[in-house]
Amino acid sequence: MESRQPNSTDEIDHDQASSARRIQRLSSHLYPQPLDGAGAEMAVALMACAGRAKLDVDTELLSKYMRGRYRDVQQGVYDYFNSRPELQTPIEISKDEHRELCMRQLMGLVREAGIRPFRYVVQDPAKYFAILEAVGSVDMSLGIKMGVQFSLWGGSVLNLGTKKHRDKYFEGIDNVEYPGCFAMTELHHGSNVQGIQTVATFDPMKDEFVIDTPNDGAIKWWIGNAAVHGKFATVFAKLMLPTHDTKGVSDMGVHAFIVPIRDMKTNKPLPGVQIHDCGHKVGLNGVDNGALRFRSVRIPRDNLLNRFGDVARDGKYTSPLPSINKRFAATLGELVGGRVGLAYSSVGVLKIAVIIAVRYSLLRQQFGPPKQPEISILDYQSQQHKLMPMLASTYAFHFATSHLVDTYGEMKKTHDEELVGDVHALSAGLKAYVTSYTAKSLSTCREACGGHGYAAVNRFGSLRNDHDIFQTFEGDNTVLLQQVAGYLLKQYKEKFHGGTFSVTWNYLRESMNFYLSQPNPVTARWEGQDHLRDPKFQLDAFRYRTSRLLQSVAVRLQKHSKTLGSFGAWNRCLNHLLTLAESHIETVILAKFIDAVRSCPDEKSRAALKLLCDLYAMDRIWNDIGTYRNVDYVAPNKAKAIHKLTEYLCFQVKNVAKEMVDAFDLPDYVTRAPIGMQAAEDAYTVYTQYAGF
Ligand SMILES: Cc1cc2nc3c(=O)[nH]c(=O)nc-3n(C[C@H](O)[C@H](O)[C@H](O)COP(=O)(O)OP(=O)(O)OC[C@H]3O[C@@H](n4cnc5c(N)ncnc54)[C@H](O)[C@@H]3O)c2cc1C
Repeated sequence: MESRQPNSTDEIDHDQASSARRIQRLSSHLYPQPLDGAGAEMAVALMACAGRAKLDVDTELLSKYMRGRYRDVQQGVYDYFNSRPELQTPIEISKDEHRELCMRQLMGLVREAGIRPFRYVVQDPAKYFAILEAVGSVDMSLGIKMGVQFSLWGGSVLNLGTKKHRDKYFEGIDNVEYPGCFAMTELHHGSNVQGIQTVATFDPMKDEFVIDTPNDGAIKWWIGNAAVHGKFATVFAKLMLPTHDTKGVSDMGVHAFIVPIRDMKTNKPLPGVQIHDCGHKVGLNGVDNGALRFRSVRIPRDNLLNRFGDVARDGKYTSPLPSINKRFAATLGELVGGRVGLAYSSVGVLKIAVIIAVRYSLLRQQFGPPKQPEISILDYQSQQHKLMPMLASTYAFHFATSHLVDTYGEMKKTHDEELVGDVHALSAGLKAYVTSYTAKSLSTCREACGGHGYAAVNRFGSLRNDHDIFQTFEGDNTVLLQQVAGYLLKQYKEKFHGGTFSVTWNYLRESMNFYLSQPNPVTARWEGQDHLRDPKFQLDAFRYRTSRLLQSVAVRLQKHSKTLGSFGAWNRCLNHLLTLAESHIETVILAKFIDAVRSCPDEKSRAALKLLCDLYAMDRIWNDIGTYRNVDYVAPNKAKAIHKLTEYLCFQVKNVAKEMVDAFDLPDYVTRAPIGMQAAEDAYTVYTQYAGF
């Protein structure tokens, strides 16, 4: 954004005076002045409750601790787009222009800036996700387009194919000469992938597969990169092999095939491939989603991505895995990287929103005690309650998703079976939990910034619209949470057959007996801060809830399955199962946050993180206080103390909110919204300039 020069000395004086006024307001907020009347009473009450002075946070040291290994690569992304204003997405842009711009941005990143994410998809996933997060914060459409190209299309070739596929396609995918799609969803089947109907029939005479869309419901729908740019697609279809019986063909289950869809030179659809545009969407309009229909499209046998199942020249089928279900699970299991990326990027979106909302709430002044200056809106308890638990959750999710990325990287290296199951459930759970939380928070942040939150330039609209679909693609959140619940129940069942819980879940091993005994009537009454802020109490409370939910749903499922069958019983207990999954994920998040606090080497940063961690824990317990009260895990006096402590922590976190959002270390270029500028004082200046004053 161009900076405007003041025209006259008067204007300079006016600007300086108004700057001084705002700085003074801001500092009076940071070091509150004494109030009188009700305001003073409130302040005194809060300060008394605070007990301690405002924490001293060294933003730089905290940032250093938070920063991943690849902050420099992310900086490369920011610097590149900062240096290329013509590649920055304007506020107003048509769908078609946005799609073209998005493609130019991707090309620029790869070919001009030399940032090549594809090679890290398997080699160093943490680096890949760091690039994805940075690119997504520049424009979320670009992040998704990049994800489609490298993680979905490219990732399917690397993870489901074998050496011959890597050798043939790696370079073209890497330098975007082969833009591609991931064509799984059909008009009639999204979540239920096993229900897809596209078929790939082997023709032994010609040594080819014939890809067909048997009916309208089997048209591939929502396929990213398909409407305009894609030259290839990984098409998921049922593999049909000829047999000598009366049926003539045998269904071998869902497999993936590389299907060229457009001519490399003319970009026209290839014979038999019909392509339509899915049109203007609620968000992500830089991504060209399209629909694909296949009419007897022939591809060579080699185009079967054959890691988990292969067809020989004579039509004989071989697989290292014994059943259709096992092959299907292995195929989908290779695709969890997309979920890891979405969970991680969703935290990136949440950071941006929280930064903008907190900075603006510190700057914005409305009302105040009689005859006193107006106060910052973040001094209102209601505003603190909207934003401070959200700030705490952002930190919590940061550590949890960083852990997920590391575990995923480890799994890619070792292929350890236990880790595979763990990562599958953890990525499903964190993706579902974090993206749902972020989606809700984006609306809260918009509202917290009042009318100015509604200006497109301040970003909440595009963030909200672009991010919303994170809840649905790469697995609908409700469906994913059921996978988490299913995994927990499987572990629970195995335990009773003498098995053990795997790493992420092993708290349940000790907890099942311990937590399911009657709550201790003495500790249920303890209400001191030392007790409530003890990580042991917090984790125990979370684990207790999960253990009870797990045990009670197992009993209910068993009871209902006698009359309703297993599908009916599952449906009867569905809400219970979803609550169980969320409770488990919250427990994992808290455990990771507590670990991160403990491991922080800088004392001041540790104290600040501890404050946020306590707020995260108390806020969640308070939100579910009914559950704890119902079983007398928490006595009435303790419930009251938890509520008071939550308010106190919100207030304390508010006092360090500026430092805590600064520590996310995102440049103004990324937060971009004028009302979210790093130096709060610039916010109004840039905003008024934007409006042409
Ligand atoms: C912008 C965009 C981009 C996309 N990109 C791609 C792409 O590149 N490639 C691709 O293959 N696909 C893509 N998709 C498709 C996406 O993956 C699917 O939309 C998603 O998997 C959900 O499927 P669905 O839309 O059929 O929803 P459905 O499965 O029909 O779900 C609809 C509702 O029913 C509920 N529901 C469904 N099953 C259950 C159940 N068992 N229990 C309880 N509730 C249930 C869900 O919670 C949801 O609320 C994209 C979609 C969009 C919108």
